[in-house]
Amino acid sequence: MKYRSENIKKQCYFCTSNMRGVDYKDVLTLKRFLDPQFKIMPKKRSGLCSLHQRKLAKAVKRARIIVSLPFIVR
Ligand SMILES: [Zn+2]
Repeated sequence: MKYRSENIKKQCYFCTSNMRGVDYKDVLTLKRFLDPQFKIMPKKRSGLCSLHQRKLAKAVKRARIIVSLPFIVR
């Protein structure tokens, strides 16, 4: 089995900071996991665990609806 350097111990941000849920009103935290086009980063790049990746996606979608984040940036 090959191990790539990016695979070494990437800890989930929300697990390490002891946050169980992702707050959709916390725009600054959400923005850390968005790319410059404001798209949600894939799991590989965000380094989140699957539970938090799913919760983040939901939080970002909620934040877009209440207009604290844009849908797309041209
Ligand atoms: Zn996690």
